[in-house]
Amino acid sequence: MMPHPEAESLDREGMKALQARKLAALGERLAASAEWREHFARAGMHPRDLAAADGLARAPTMEKTDLRARYPFPFLTVGVSEVSRFFATSGTTGLPVLFGFTRGDLRRLTAQVARALRCGGVRPGDRVYQGFGYGLWMGGPAHEMALEEIGATCVPVGPGRAELVIEWLRDLACEVATVSPLFLSHLVRVARERGIEPKTHWGKLRLAIIGGQPISRAFREQLEAAMPPGFTARNSYGTTEAGGPNLGAACLHAHHRDEMHLINEDSVITELLDPATLRPAGPGEVGEVVVTTLDKEASPVVRWRTRDLVRMSERPYDCECGRRGMPLIGRIIGRSDDMLKVRGVIVFPSQIEDVVAGTPGTVKDAWQIYVDAIDGSPKSITVAVECEAGYAGERPALAAAVARALSSRLGLTIPVECHPHGALPRYEAKARRVLLKEQT
Ligand SMILES: [Zn+2]
Repeated sequence: MMPHPEAESLDREGMKALQARKLAALGERLAASAEWREHFARAGMHPRDLAAADGLARAPTMEKTDLRARYPFPFLTVGVSEVSRFFATSGTTGLPVLFGFTRGDLRRLTAQVARALRCGGVRPGDRVYQGFGYGLWMGGPAHEMALEEIGATCVPVGPGRAELVIEWLRDLACEVATVSPLFLSHLVRVARERGIEPKTHWGKLRLAIIGGQPISRAFREQLEAAMPPGFTARNSYGTTEAGGPNLGAACLHAHHRDEMHLINEDSVITELLDPATLRPAGPGEVGEVVVTTLDKEASPVVRWRTRDLVRMSERPYDCECGRRGMPLIGRIIGRSDDMLKVRGVIVFPSQIEDVVAGTPGTVKDAWQIYVDAIDGSPKSITVAVECEAGYAGERPALAAAVARALSSRLGLTIPVECHPHGALPRYEAKARRVLLKEQT
């Protein structure tokens, strides 16, 4: 089942030795670039210091401001004419940042994403509805290239065209969907409105590889329950800076524990670091995902701070699936810049989502946080939820149940409003959970 057993079955020591060899080679490549020499010099280092045992741990981190300062081709380490494609970050917080890929980078990315998809359960010959986006965003193209590599049959629709997709999932008898969880949930809703029952009419659909946005376990399980028997929605994870949707993949064992393998540790080193002290997180601890690309030619990164926070597994190595040195992490908890500080208490939107999703009677994908200031430290905060269609109870009672659960989870009293079914915004792609409350 493992497409690359020589790397995937390495034990942790073997993996670290492989990473050390590649880090030394990366240092040699970066040493040829004035931009990289200058970046390392700011930490009193030279790129060749990456060859030392503690070289990576001492290397300077990189973040958005480092890239923005080098517009339009930040840290590009080959000539532009050697770049075959540019992809870009989503640009939700400013101008998109361009990342170059040489032909070799694209070939390696294809193998990395194919490995992640195989780990997630995609098989040669599968018929796949590909629903990740195209254009500057690499989610769609990277999945498409990887599906071709696996020998699957790809139907590259991208997001949108829900009315077509709900019929094609039935008529083309698709077995797999690669898609954002919110859009998959939207498809289920549209299908039912049009008299298509996912459980039976999409009878061949056994797997979704979901990504682009973390969701609660309860929401994922509700999605699975809406599908044919045996269907699983497996989490995946990646970022443009790390080279694509190539970081996290869930084997069946990891899936049942709501975890993922860092599936390309031989090409991308992932450190989990305390965002304040940069101290490494241990098993069971939460850290920020910080990535270093070992093989990338055109736009490598060294210690890129993703701002994504995850918990390292209590048992990160030696998974039952045979992958020994590919560490296990939990799902993405949130971004450190989404963190809210409410009356001195740290709150992540994902914690509120867990509570909403875990309260019977609520709609799992329609909820909002309203604040009086989008500066991370609101003085007032309200949570809005919806009751399910046909909910038999009283709405104020449901709101009170959510408020009680929030209070016991967070130790905070937060007002909760419960709206009728259909009253709150629905999102087909990235949800905006924290909104400014209209001043009255
Ligand atoms: Zn595994």
